[in-house]
Amino acid sequence: MASRVLAATTSPYSLVAFAALGGAIVVWGAVNAVTTIGAMSAGLEQPAPATAAEPVTAPEPPPPPPPAFVFDAPLPGHVVNSPFGLRQMPWEENGRLHEGVDIAAPVGAPVHVATDGIVMRSGVSSTYGRFVEVAHKDGFRTLYAHLGRDAGFKRGAYVKRGTTVAYVGSSGRSTGSHLHFELRNKAGKPLNPALFMGKTFAQKDDLPLKAAAKVGRKVRLATVSRWPDGVKAKMSANGEGVVTRVKGGRIRTRINVVDG
Ligand SMILES: [Zn+2]
Repeated sequence: MASRVLAATTSPYSLVAFAALGGAIVVWGAVNAVTTIGAMSAGLEQPAPATAAEPVTAPEPPPPPPPAFVFDAPLPGHVVNSPFGLRQMPWEENGRLHEGVDIAAPVGAPVHVATDGIVMRSGVSSTYGRFVEVAHKDGFRTLYAHLGRDAGFKRGAYVKRGTTVAYVGSSGRSTGSHLHFELRNKAGKPLNPALFMGKTFAQKDDLPLKAAAKVGRKVRLATVSRWPDGVKAKMSANGEGVVTRVKGGRIRTRINVVDG
């Protein structure tokens, strides 16, 4: 009894509330009366929860297996300015295989490992300069050369794809600040990294191994902004290699340069 009296005395509020509820029921009722009641009990402030029963469907299919191979570009955002293939440097007599790609980037730019792997070697060579070599599954290897410095990973360290393994420089026989990036198969044969960089392969069979091992017959003449110090030093030390400028800015010398 008491509660009814109380209800009667608070009728103005009840009426307002009821009008609001009524309005809500009119508006929402056509959509989903069940969620409208939910909204009412939640104080009319909350939007209707989107938990309306969904039709029962077949269980979701399992997610696809992860891709077999994922290769990143070692310097995302920087372009290859000297491709894989036969190349003749201005101080060389003949063309020879450029066993990787050159990616121009400022000194200090972080070099990312292209795919998950284990650091195999890091060191300094007269031609490659400072370098880091990483082994990957299925016998693939990547090499990062002409570095300013490496990131300090020891041999055997596991590096996930995208890890910074080194920083760009211009060490060794280099014609300017850039990264020399190689990819080799398990036999040690150089592959064209451009066919892998930034690409995902669902299965091993999808890898473009044949195309990447192909070396075109065309010899590309390289134009360089500056000569590597090693070449200059060797020429002056041996007193050989008289430089003759010929048409088109090409330069001919008579020195033999060891591979690098
Ligand atoms: Zn190179």
